[in-house]
Amino acid sequence: MLEHAQRILKDVFGYDSFRGRQGAIIERVATGGDALVLMPTGGGKSLCFQVPALLREGLAVVVSPLIALMDDQVATLNELGVAAVALNSSLSADEQREIAMRIRRGEIKMLYLAPERLVQPRMLSFLESLQIALFAIDEAHCVSQWGHDFRPEYLQLGQLAELFPQVPRIALTATADMRTREEIVQRLHLHSAERFLSSFDRPNIFYRIVPKEQPRKQLISFLTPRKGDAGIVYCLSRKKVEEVAAFLSEQGFPALPYHAGLPNELRAFNQKRFLNEEGLIMVATVAFGMGIDKPNVRFVAHMDLPKSLEAYYQETGRAGRDGLPADAWMSYGLQDVIFLKQMLNNSEGDERHKRVEQHKLDAMLALCEETRCRRQALLAYFDEELAQPCGHCDNCQDPVQTWDATEPARQALSAIHRTGQRYGVGHLVDVLLGRDNDKVRAVGHQHLSVFGIGKALHEAEWRSLYRQLVARGLVDVDLDGFGGLRLSDSCRPLLKGEVSLQLRRDLKPQQSAKASSSAASQLVRGDERAQWEALRTLRRKLAEEHGVPPYVIFPDATLLEMLRSKPANLAEMAQVSGVGARKLERYGEAFLAVLGGAQSTSASVADLRHELVSLACAGMTPAQIAKQLSCSEKNVYSLLAEAISRQQLSLEQALDLPEELLGQIQDTFLDGEGELPSVATVSELLDGRVELGILHCVRAALQAEFEI
Ligand code: ADP
Ligand code: ZN
Repeated sequence: MLEHAQRILKDVFGYDSFRGRQGAIIERVATGGDALVLMPTGGGKSLCFQVPALLREGLAVVVSPLIALMDDQVATLNELGVAAVALNSSLSADEQREIAMRIRRGEIKMLYLAPERLVQPRMLSFLESLQIALFAIDEAHCVSQWGHDFRPEYLQLGQLAELFPQVPRIALTATADMRTREEIVQRLHLHSAERFLSSFDRPNIFYRIVPKEQPRKQLISFLTPRKGDAGIVYCLSRKKVEEVAAFLSEQGFPALPYHAGLPNELRAFNQKRFLNEEGLIMVATVAFGMGIDKPNVRFVAHMDLPKSLEAYYQETGRAGRDGLPADAWMSYGLQDVIFLKQMLNNSEGDERHKRVEQHKLDAMLALCEETRCRRQALLAYFDEELAQPCGHCDNCQDPVQTWDATEPARQALSAIHRTGQRYGVGHLVDVLLGRDNDKVRAVGHQHLSVFGIGKALHEAEWRSLYRQLVARGLVDVDLDGFGGLRLSDSCRPLLKGEVSLQLRRDLKPQQSAKASSSAASQLVRGDERAQWEALRTLRRKLAEEHGVPPYVIFPDATLLEMLRSKPANLAEMAQVSGVGARKLERYGEAFLAVLGGAQSTSASVADLRHELVSLACAGMTPAQIAKQLSCSEKNVYSLLAEAISRQQLSLEQALDLPEELLGQIQDTFLDGEGELPSVATVSELLDGRVELGILHCVRAALQAEFEI
């Protein structure tokens, strides 16, 4: 069984070995067992049901909450040569009937559906009339009210257990906490599912949180060494999204806005551009994210504080799905804390709910003020222990210094007290520093005993101190929305001198900006740039031709491996991770040509081509040529098609086709108006009767003839 799975992994997906627990999960589901899979983003969840789907007889049904997610997976599978379709509301009635017919005929291997569609009685009875290989429930945390993506439609998926007792079900999610996990099991009736928990660590992500000083300037310093990379910048408000997107564009960083207030079409358009183009920055509210499977998002930057560590982990987790180095960067300041605390206080909802939210915010703040390894702190929150500091976060790289802030903290608290517990940080700092300005004079604060007692510290240090007092709950924020500070009960021991206080010493912004230029983005060395860009250009061109995002052709990791291992022929190309049989056939030659450059290493490829043309002219059939050159018949066809399109060979020289069949194929290609239809379309129109390789050749000949 596992051997068969390995073969599918290599032949279809082009990968050499399973990652983590993929093998065990696949074995469990392929042999008919249920599974609950918790794996971080980018861990490789899709293969856990896609491989069993190919191993088992019948139709595999995949439930997914978003059209974008489904389309992406379907496009990826189709590129791999797997017959997958998505049924969704954007299809016409005719198209849906057509899909149903193809399913009945057993031509479809995987069907992607939204939950509400799956549980329609008609759909259920349709599925009951078929052989079902498995049910996969993706983003299974949507069934949980506790989580943040609750989708009521998911609740009805529990009935699958009773309706299809013989069919294995696999639920997958990247959301970690225990409570969500238990809700998934209860509500999806997965009591007998084996649980597969993976570590939630994302070792390729570098975490950095900097004190907010001049946020836009800091953002630019962070982005500058990452120019040309795709990334997401999260902002709290729609207004800020628009402003930051405009600002970045002005500064020469191509950026698009995304938030729930934009017209639907524009949002969809921007999302599509982000997926399809390279090097775009999406500036967005949290409305953007779920369903973004783009694997080469190189950074996620937060301009504002997320509300919880769950949100932070999810949002930063969108970086580096492909396993290559990526950055999570955030700028964080007192205003963020004040704002979120006020929002929480003013929110609807009962006291219990507010307490939970407060608790979550406190955990988020603690991560920001953390002086030890961020990754250890983050994982600990998700009940996972990392034995050693990670060495791959800001605090590990530049150890944080702490200082004894007991005395200044008491001065800061007393400034709050003496001024009547109603002023914001700006005024408090003015008083501490003894600034004799109009505002201070207007309220007579130049006469207070605390006036000017804090000259030993700089303004930035006082601000940092107040921020940390608020983050630790020693100081409260007033509820009226003006950001006044009040003493909280928990500051008494400190005021009375019963406890001391150690605080973090913030790095100067210049230092943190400099340090942040070290991580990710340095994927390719200077001397590799030209070839890397050439590979990306080819990928972009192919993606446009096929109407799919570039990463569906090959992910960055695969291009990078090509760049480094420099395959010189198709056999070596087949060894590159991510190059399966279908992609080798379709794209192998083209990428080899780019890698080989114009002359030198492509000699072998050129020789092969030359020989192929001679053999074809000598009257050999593709099968005979394949044998002679010891490569696959598919490759021979694609090389023949290429030679035909270069007019080195005529169609008649390449293939010996019966007159009538040739006419029929040509008619099918030329039937429509405008561009030639794709080989896949024509193959379908001809009911798959003609080998794809032949269609490729005929198409190439037509193209050469009409110079289309
Ligand atoms: P998830 O759904 O868990 O976020 P995906 O299924 O999208 O993750 O996989 C993330 C990336 O890792 C994809 O580009 C996928 O092709 C790749 N991948 C998955 N499994 C393997 C494997 N065994 N070997 C190499 N790459 C893999
Ligand atoms: Zn660390």
